[in-house]
Amino acid sequence: MPTLAHKIGSLLFCPDCGTLLDLPFGDEADVRCDQCGHLEPASSYENSKITTHSHPDAFPSSLRQLRKTKTKVHKESDALLKVTETCPECGHMEAYSKEIQMRSADEGSTILYTCVNCKHGWRINN
Ligand SMILES: [Zn+2]
Ligand SMILES: [Zn+2]
Repeated sequence: MPTLAHKIGSLLFCPDCGTLLDLPFGDEADVRCDQCGHLEPASSYENSKITTHSHPDAFPSSLRQLRKTKTKVHKESDALLKVTETCPECGHMEAYSKEIQMRSADEGSTILYTCVNCKHGWRINN
């Protein structure tokens, strides 16, 4: 087994003299140390290249983006307003209201109420 370069982060150092090794050019099979002529297989770089490419920084941003979008959609579809309305079922004074626009204008809109206390639902036509 030949001695392989010391790897610090994505940098390779010559195991014989400690010189920082250059990146391989094109499809060269190995990299020659400028100082002592040690030959380092280019495959050593491929490993570190993979590490560099899948750097954790590449993921958090897209994940964060995803989470942001999800939260927004969730909020919009669940936009419930808490209002003071007496529940006909239990007499509780708080209910979640949601306005539903009817298809034709003259039908007006319907407000759905859901009791905070007993979850009883009822509707009021405007
Ligand atoms: Zn060397
Ligand atoms: Zn109730």
